[in-house]
Amino acid sequence: MMEGEHILKRLEEVFKIDENEFLALKVARIYKDPFILLIATLLTQNTNERNAFKAFNQLKGEIGLSQKELLNARIEDIASALRPGGLHWVKAKAIKQIAEKVEREFNGSLGSILRLPPRKAREKLISLPRVGFKTADVVLLNLAEETDYIPIDTHIERVVKKLGIAPEKAGYREIQEKLSKIFNKKDYLRAHLLLILLGRRICKSRNPLCGECPLNNICNYYNKVKLG
Ligand code: SF4
Repeated sequence: MMEGEHILKRLEEVFKIDENEFLALKVARIYKDPFILLIATLLTQNTNERNAFKAFNQLKGEIGLSQKELLNARIEDIASALRPGGLHWVKAKAIKQIAEKVEREFNGSLGSILRLPPRKAREKLISLPRVGFKTADVVLLNLAEETDYIPIDTHIERVVKKLGIAPEKAGYREIQEKLSKIFNKKDYLRAHLLLILLGRRICKSRNPLCGECPLNNICNYYNKVKLG
């Protein structure tokens, strides 16, 4: 297996990371606020990035993004703002519950979480409604001083299984462990974004464009299945 640095170098020859294609990355850079980043990451669930951007901008324009503004807003109004992103009622309820819980249990701010050791920070985040490992890991990766967790989305899962980095039956934690053996912690954000780009643009679920893939020489699927 190739080293992580070589994988990243190959991917960077083909892809350029653009924050306009990653809502969480853009929001983290602009606001540097874990609450707003958490809300943005939640809006990327079960939809594509374009619709998540639309829902985020509409929420910002109609309600606001701060914990206080969302705490005081009506669920109906939050849901209406989130309509472009799908699951708008489910997400509106979760946002309202998160704002309430952050008020009750975190004194209205998630800032202190970022200074906790990664495992503790993750535990606190996943105690919030509709926040699973992936959402928590995205928040930590983008804003915490350090993290031990590289977030795995559906693109990354597909790509690493095809490459043969993780076995077909591997779940979230196992994939994460395999990637942690290949990439240095300092490269987790780059690796996360570049593997997503590979999945979105080339290693597509229905019809992977293996001939154009910068990693085809190390890909298990390509060498065993496609080349026989
Ligand atoms: S060679 Fe094909 S299957 Fe392998 S990672 Fe690239 S696109 Fe995906």
